[in-house]
Amino acid sequence: MKIQLHITYLLTSVLFLSFADRNSSGSRNVSADTTGKGRPAINASFASAEHKLTERFYTTADLDELLQRNQPAGIQLGTTRQGRSLNAWYFPGTSDKRALVIGGVHGSELSSIEVAQALVERLMSADEQPYYSVIVIPALFPDNAATAMRMPEQTGSVLNIGRYTHEQAVDPNRQMPSPGANINDDELTDHLSRRIEKENQLLLQLIRDFKPDRIASVHAIRNINYGGIYADPRTDANGIALGYASDSSLAVDMSILVDQQQGNVDGNHLKTRPTALYYKDPTPVAAGLPQKRNTVGAALKANRGSGISMGTWGTTAIEKEKNNDLNRDAMRVITIEVPGARRSFDYKTDQQKAFFRNQMLAFVNAIHHIFLGNHHVED
Ligand SMILES: [Zn+2]
Repeated sequence: MKIQLHITYLLTSVLFLSFADRNSSGSRNVSADTTGKGRPAINASFASAEHKLTERFYTTADLDELLQRNQPAGIQLGTTRQGRSLNAWYFPGTSDKRALVIGGVHGSELSSIEVAQALVERLMSADEQPYYSVIVIPALFPDNAATAMRMPEQTGSVLNIGRYTHEQAVDPNRQMPSPGANINDDELTDHLSRRIEKENQLLLQLIRDFKPDRIASVHAIRNINYGGIYADPRTDANGIALGYASDSSLAVDMSILVDQQQGNVDGNHLKTRPTALYYKDPTPVAAGLPQKRNTVGAALKANRGSGISMGTWGTTAIEKEKNNDLNRDAMRVITIEVPGARRSFDYKTDQQKAFFRNQMLAFVNAIHHIFLGNHHVED
């Protein structure tokens, strides 16, 4: 069994390495790369400075230069806790608007990584540039995904293998700084004063520099009745709502496309009363009113499931930095819950594999054509 799984993994690697090599003069790094993407195309120029604390592999100037080059590139953000490469891909768009797509926040949710990797492949081979310039991080916690991949038969089970980095670790999606604040490089702690894990540090620093207008965070969900595409309400730095209509419309438009292509977005209730509100989240209020937030998450020992999620943090503006370059508008944050955590090829029968591959591609299409397209563009 073990050997067979290993081969499956290697075959996947080769598939993704083939396009990495197209742009790369770097060496292959199969064993260290559990995301199966191979080495990123550009990292030699990122070898300089800013290695303190998080060991980020690029400087702000490197990133600026990369963005001005107007060609697709791989970025090695840094290395993970276990020494794997944390990789991202950049694809320039036709506008000056910016987007970020994140897969594998929860390493247990392998289908989310499959979606993000397929999106990279799509953007690599697409004839036309997207409207948004986009950075895609296919697997934010590749160490945790590697743990999950060792037992693919358990993927999606209540054991949640690969969801948390270790027994005491905080939920990876509950480690954001206080709403309205950037990550502080001297402290590197979250809203509840807990150390932010390295992979999230690298993510937060990337967001601070790249300043995306919108983020799509791809997850997976066990209860398929809640599969769907959701939006958090944006607020100013004080938590006052800015108006939800366009965020909601963007998420619902994406879900309509998935539904048209026979994907399951039951949580959006398209047949009865279309919504972009996740069932556990407080109702979005009208612009000008204080917005309630969900800060509790899963009930776990030592409040490991509590804290600030990307949905809350990203949709809150940062306005109080003395250095104005560090302030930003509230970002749109779209959270995609793919029904089922398995990769399409992990299912048993050919019929299941085909069904889940089709559904996976429906989510890729929604991100590519709606989220990265000219839809509900920010002011
Ligand atoms: Zn998740």
